[in-house]
Amino acid sequence: MGKQFTLREFQGRFQTEEDCYAYLCQQKWGKGYACRRCQHKEYVQGKKTIWKRCKQCNYDESPTAKTLFHQVKSNILDAFYMCYRGSS
Ligand SMILES: [Zn+2]
Repeated sequence: MGKQFTLREFQGRFQTEEDCYAYLCQQKWGKGYACRRCQHKEYVQGKKTIWKRCKQCNYDESPTAKTLFHQVKSNILDAFYMCYRGSS
C-alpha cells in the first residue's frame, strides 16, 4: 500500500474508518463480485452494510476477510497507517 501513495495522499484519502473499508471493498470487489465459496456472481447486502452475501449459498463475506486486516481488533485507521509505514 505504501508504494501507491505519498504520506499526504494517504492522509487525505483515509480520514475515517469508512474510507478504509471502501478501499478494501474496491480492492476485493472492484473487478466484480464472485462468491468465495461457490463462485456465484450475485449478492445481497450481508450482516453489515459493507458486507456482501451470496444469493446462492448465503455465504457472508466482510471486506477484511482474507486480507491483512482480518485480525484487526482496534481502529482500522491505525492498522492502515501501520501497514502504510511498514511498507514504505
Ligand atoms: Zn455462494
